[in-house]
Amino acid sequence: MACFPDFVGSDALRARIDDAVRSCRLSHAYLIEGPEGSGKRTFARMIAAAVSCEKRGDTGADLPCGVCPACRKILSDRSTDVHYLDRGDRATVSVDQVRDLRREMALSPTELDVRFFIIDDADAMTPAAQNALLISLEEPPAGVLILLLAESADGLLPTVRSRVQTLRLEPVPNDEVRKYLLRASGEARKLDAEGKGKLDAVIAASHGRIGVALAYLTPKREAALEKMRETVKGIVRAAASGASYAEVLRAVFALPAKRTELTAHLVPLIEACRDLSVVKRSPDAPLLFYVDRNEAKTLSEKADSQRLMKIADACRDAADAVRANGNIQTILTSLAVSVSRRA
Ligand SMILES: [Zn+2]
Repeated sequence: MACFPDFVGSDALRARIDDAVRSCRLSHAYLIEGPEGSGKRTFARMIAAAVSCEKRGDTGADLPCGVCPACRKILSDRSTDVHYLDRGDRATVSVDQVRDLRREMALSPTELDVRFFIIDDADAMTPAAQNALLISLEEPPAGVLILLLAESADGLLPTVRSRVQTLRLEPVPNDEVRKYLLRASGEARKLDAEGKGKLDAVIAASHGRIGVALAYLTPKREAALEKMRETVKGIVRAAASGASYAEVLRAVFALPAKRTELTAHLVPLIEACRDLSVVKRSPDAPLLFYVDRNEAKTLSEKADSQRLMKIADACRDAADAVRANGNIQTILTSLAVSVSRRA
């Protein structure tokens, strides 16, 4: 017997839901919390399928079984009793959208015993929308299960948070991401066969989120990832080898000028600095950015740990400045000064 056999990671959470479904002690509302690409929607769908699965009374069966008609409909998003709400192209989920959803909650199921209301981007609900939902969370209609999905519970009112059980999805360990990708993706198997560390680079960049790893597995995204890694490595090499200011400036200005892309480069740059300083102290410690441990070790021998930490701090300052709408040229110049400073 397995719980959520097709979901990778978050074992304790899966066991908790499995136990609640089998013993009929499920809450009426849950908040599934996790970053983009961590599987919140998949997890919500699995809960709906487990609750509706025809094998749920069978102690020896996997839940959801994945093959009964209810499971098949829910897992392929074809059930009329599973309702989704998200913000679409808008910045927020509005009070009117929530009111429509509440009207829908009053109706009876058409094919399942329970109706499911999955609110994606729940942290994008306006305060008025959250207050409108409160009534349903306080006195849920019979046969309704509400699943809120959010990157962080911080965007929700305390009154909403206190009326739902929170399920926080954990990052999936790298070896499990690798196993999953090799099973599920032909592109992953191709990269693995090439054996140039490209699949490891995808896994490192996913930070334990299967959805993110899968999104990287297209030739276009792989090329973008490779380019990003080379840019980051160029800056770290310049920093570690005490390159001239002009060389550092060239390496830093290879970073993209577009804000979202620049931020996406600063995170791995911080991780690369962290890797070098960690590998200096303990050569076998897990690395976040470098796939080739020897490359990290060789570079770390030239670099000073304190300077690496200062560069990482400068990257965090740069990321804050990008978020605060600072001038990109100024941000990059100031980062280059920090990277090239030798004292
Ligand atoms: Zn089933």
